[in-house]
Amino acid sequence: MTQKYVYFFGDGQAEGRSDMKNLLGGKGANLAEMTSIGLPVPPGFTISTEVCTEFYKNDRNYPPALAAEVVAALRRVEELMGRKFGDPANPLLVSVRSGARASMPGMMDTVLNLGLNDTTVQGIIAQSGDERFAYDAYRRFVQMYADVVMGMEKEILDHLLEQKKEQRGVHLDTDLTAADWKELVGVFKATIKKELGTEFPDDPQAQLWGAIGAVFGSWMNQRAITYRKLNNIPADWGTAVNVQSMVFGNMGNDCATGVAFTRDPSTGENYFFGEFLVNAQGEDVVAGIRTPQPINRVKDKDGKLPSMEEVMPDCYQQLVQIRGILEKHYKDMQDIEFTIEKGILYMLQTRNGKRTAPAAIKIAVEMVREGLIDEKTAVLRVAPNQLDQLLHPCLDPKAEKLVIAKGLPASPGAVSGEVVFTADEAEAEAKTGRKVILVRIETSPEDIHGMHAAQGILTARGGMTSHAAVVARGMGKCCVAGCGDIKVDYVTETFTAKNGVVVKRGDLITLNGSSGEVMLGAVPTIPVQLTGDFGTLMGWVDGFRTMKVRANSDTPHDSKVARDFGAEGIGLCRTEHMFFDAERIAAVREMILSDELEGRERALAKIMPMQKGDFIGIFREMKGLPVTIRLLDPPLHEFLPQEDRDIEDLAKTMGVSVGAIKHKIEFLHEFNPMLGHRGCRLGITFPEIYDMQVRAIMEAACELVRDEGFTIVPEIMIPLIATVKELQVLKQNAAAVCEEVIAQYGVKLEYLIGTMIELPRAALTADEIAVEAEFFSFGTNDLTQTTFGLSRDDAGKFLPFYVDSGILPEDPFVSLDQSGVGKLVKLACQQGRTTRSDIKLGICGEHGGDPASVMFCHEIGLDYVSCSPFRVPIARLAAAHAALSS
Ligand code: PEP
Ligand code: MG
Repeated sequence: MTQKYVYFFGDGQAEGRSDMKNLLGGKGANLAEMTSIGLPVPPGFTISTEVCTEFYKNDRNYPPALAAEVVAALRRVEELMGRKFGDPANPLLVSVRSGARASMPGMMDTVLNLGLNDTTVQGIIAQSGDERFAYDAYRRFVQMYADVVMGMEKEILDHLLEQKKEQRGVHLDTDLTAADWKELVGVFKATIKKELGTEFPDDPQAQLWGAIGAVFGSWMNQRAITYRKLNNIPADWGTAVNVQSMVFGNMGNDCATGVAFTRDPSTGENYFFGEFLVNAQGEDVVAGIRTPQPINRVKDKDGKLPSMEEVMPDCYQQLVQIRGILEKHYKDMQDIEFTIEKGILYMLQTRNGKRTAPAAIKIAVEMVREGLIDEKTAVLRVAPNQLDQLLHPCLDPKAEKLVIAKGLPASPGAVSGEVVFTADEAEAEAKTGRKVILVRIETSPEDIHGMHAAQGILTARGGMTSHAAVVARGMGKCCVAGCGDIKVDYVTETFTAKNGVVVKRGDLITLNGSSGEVMLGAVPTIPVQLTGDFGTLMGWVDGFRTMKVRANSDTPHDSKVARDFGAEGIGLCRTEHMFFDAERIAAVREMILSDELEGRERALAKIMPMQKGDFIGIFREMKGLPVTIRLLDPPLHEFLPQEDRDIEDLAKTMGVSVGAIKHKIEFLHEFNPMLGHRGCRLGITFPEIYDMQVRAIMEAACELVRDEGFTIVPEIMIPLIATVKELQVLKQNAAAVCEEVIAQYGVKLEYLIGTMIELPRAALTADEIAVEAEFFSFGTNDLTQTTFGLSRDDAGKFLPFYVDSGILPEDPFVSLDQSGVGKLVKLACQQGRTTRSDIKLGICGEHGGDPASVMFCHEIGLDYVSCSPFRVPIARLAAAHAALSS
């Protein structure tokens, strides 16, 4: 069978379907589907993504069979429309648009009104009876084609247009006449010739192929590459090209164009949400040059601009019907584009709408209630990482706020930061650890890297569907858009609010993306409530997942937060964090500085009741859920003072000389502390430290069991084991202390002694280690460090380069390197089970909160993942996704 490259759609017939997104891209597949279900879609055809792949494989050449298929499909469009492409009397005009498998809003190129030249424009005048419209369409085409296809600097033609308006003494494009537009077309073409040295192509066929080439070419433009990287879209997917008969929303006041969501994409509320513009072409809505009008009055009761429901009631009712059809058909919230040409409604696009996390949850839960989807689908509809947005704080209602302006609440959340005015600055400042707010007149796809780096985005222009709003919502970033109350001046790097307040670069402001307010200074925030729909969804999540989720927590407070987020235990309590407390550090230092065992024991005796108190607090918060406590891990010198003043203070309190302390610091200095005297090596050389810690754990547990009737099984974890011998020795010591304390309290208490697997040698000899260890917890931070031979603390300097240049697919400290480090984890699980079939297996490195790594942990059969408290809901959802997709 010969390969097919072109897929036609029109008049109720389509060669594609919505499940052919890989081949036709999202837009093409859905245009085909909408056509088949009888919705009014202008006819056209889609050139498949396979052509894009071949185009790049063959040095930007098309497959030989493509041209004939395009001609045949174009002929069918001509027949349906009763117009001919390039015909002087009755010409067909087309749009040429990109459409990849995953939506990449605004990242690639589009050409509209294609097929116009000095001859065919006469045909358009005849068709429309409107010379002004025809020449306006013609100049828009020349302007867009020059930019997108010919690579002409956009500002040059924009400037000529501004000049023309000045010369005519008008402000709006709509005030220019047919003669003005006609003249501009000539000026534009002459300027293009002068600037680029090439003629603007008049032949519609040449225009068509130029535009097709530009759209395929835009797959590899810088902003598309950046967007793909941020959204993990593989470069080899390619884009499709959609060629479609033009319909015009700018032929007069019975014409319009708009975008809508079948439910509110910010809140998820079930009402029809959208914006439209009368007498405008599609790009006018998105560009944010004119303020769009709402399609109805549901949320805009007192608005001044007339709604579509009021000015075009018939088309609005038809659109409402289509909304219902689309939701029933796709069983998901849709993001649609439509155009009304002379009172007739056309659908130009539908796709699953991007939404904020709160909206995603509300829509998923309500669609289950409405019987549209089942619980499993609802759970799979919410992306685990998206929950991160929900776990962000909102403004403290009691805090004082100085509101200086109000814009549109484009993407929820509340953030503070220093004002910057360019995307590059945002990126540069964020790299130095500063929190910034990117303030722009409006954003464009070129700003994507700055939007990513900023805490939040504020724009002076643009509606709820402007670039800034759509992209920010997709990123889960707080955004206030279309804030007409401010005047942005890039030259002086300031913006001025209506009330005269001037905000300079570097000044602190706060944005509330849920109300649209802009405030001066940093306003305090509070955590969000995790009840209602969130609770319902997470209930389903817990029903589906099979892997447990614990939290890494070192304090009673964090343990409470973790439990509130649904943690089912503590997977890692790092005891060293308790040592840094102001009251304790002196005793810790005393212990380190004592050369004699006696002195160390004296100091440890001071620390012990404090440690015990912490453990009681944590056990109490966890109410009998498992708690894994790790014995001391970092090298001792980390606890010693570095500054001269601190050294002097310490010398005074301890009654020793400054020299003695400095000498000790020097003595403890290590060239490579990460591979030095740390972890279980401390326990081997200073057994009294681990003995004290084990005693504190066991006394805490025994006391709660004896006095408060708790059921506790403490899990004592020994870090950085390389050989089973280390564990043998340390386990013996620990068990002896445990038995002694249990006997002393006279209670019945079980306990487990296990180890972290965080060195390759431990993973490789896991069968031997499992003879001693009652559980393994994979410390994938250190295991990544030691497997790659890559310092956790220094990699930040060069790792981004590795990721940018594709040497590593992503930062292995963020997402587990499944083919390398993951292989060791898998092997250790298998090996461990050979000698202890019921060994408890978990992970407590940062990867425990990364959805892709959680999926991997499920696949290899870990009992639990453990992550920071704020990521617990993300891990729960990821674990449910893993269970549902395996
Ligand atoms: C690890 O190495 O993965 C781990 C959890 O321990 P830490 O981060 O404390 O070294
Ligand atoms: Mg570690």
